[in-house]
Amino acid sequence: MIRYRDIISDSIVDGAGLRVVAFLQGCPRRCIGCHNPQLLPIEGGKEISERELAKILLKKLTAKHAGITFSGGDPLMQPEALFNVITYIRKRKPEINIWVYTGYYFEEIKDLPVLGLIDVLVDGPFIMEEKSISLVFKGSRNQRIIDVPNTLKQGKIIEILPEKNAVNI
Ligand code: SF4
Repeated sequence: MIRYRDIISDSIVDGAGLRVVAFLQGCPRRCIGCHNPQLLPIEGGKEISERELAKILLKKLTAKHAGITFSGGDPLMQPEALFNVITYIRKRKPEINIWVYTGYYFEEIKDLPVLGLIDVLVDGPFIMEEKSISLVFKGSRNQRIIDVPNTLKQGKIIEILPEKNAVNI
């Protein structure tokens, strides 16, 4: 089972291009200026089977979509459930582009098996003092947009520096 709060299918700010976004419930942090405070309580939201969530997300995808993003809350609060959701999705759409937002830094969660299924990880908590509205796909300068397959392959963080109107990463 996995806890989520909402799903939208028209986001252009949660990753490159038009994206279906699942907002998963629960985050252990309390960043000042958190953009989604209603997603923080671990017991909030709705519980659903991983398979059901994957099916809903797949159903919302159209030819116009660039991929699926998991945001929150912190999706990596439920790493095994997220692994199952993405595995189900990848079996049906192996080439689908998947982004995950997390408040953890990559170094803290680098051994989670779910990372092997993700294309891009936006890592780190939101830090108000580091906030800038000129940043693309992230809220504060400390956060990184990480090319996960290349980072795992090379054993060092490979960041992506997207343009404002990037549609395909
Ligand atoms: S990590 Fe993200 S969701 Fe969690 S408290 Fe910080 S800003 Fe909010």
